[in-house]
Amino acid sequence: MSSGCLFCKIITGMIPAQRVYEDEVCIAFPDINPQSLTHILVVPKEHLSSLAEAGPEHTELLGKLMAAAAEVARIKKLDRGYRVVVNTGAEGGQTVHHLHLHVLGGRHMGWPPG
Ligand code: 5GP
Ligand code: ZN
Repeated sequence: MSSGCLFCKIITGMIPAQRVYEDEVCIAFPDINPQSLTHILVVPKEHLSSLAEAGPEHTELLGKLMAAAAEVARIKKLDRGYRVVVNTGAEGGQTVHHLHLHVLGGRHMGWPPG
């Protein structure tokens, strides 16, 4: 828990969000400004400011987050495919400084990303 962190406030329930999925390490809820038909954020309950802060002690957590993203995709029936994105740092386009995975689906994704 990091005071002033938006996603920590969603995790504690201080700010409401529709929980699409939850397990012991993370919650998943819709992005407030969706970039595709389905746009879900997978957020660890532990506050970690970005992927750049992750080390060997986080490998289990990171694996569980990826598995949670796959579970979210199954729940949202993204059987035609989807994209998992982790924006990291200023040039990576990160705006909320609590690690999160974007699960995007429901349209064809272009490459390279913008
Ligand atoms: P980032 O830009 O850091 O990769 O992603 C942050 C995401 O959080 C953005 O896609 C943004 O729309 C979303 N977001 C920002 N504030 C809120 C909020 O209060 N509730 C929800 N559900 N999503 C938010
Ligand atoms: Zn946080």
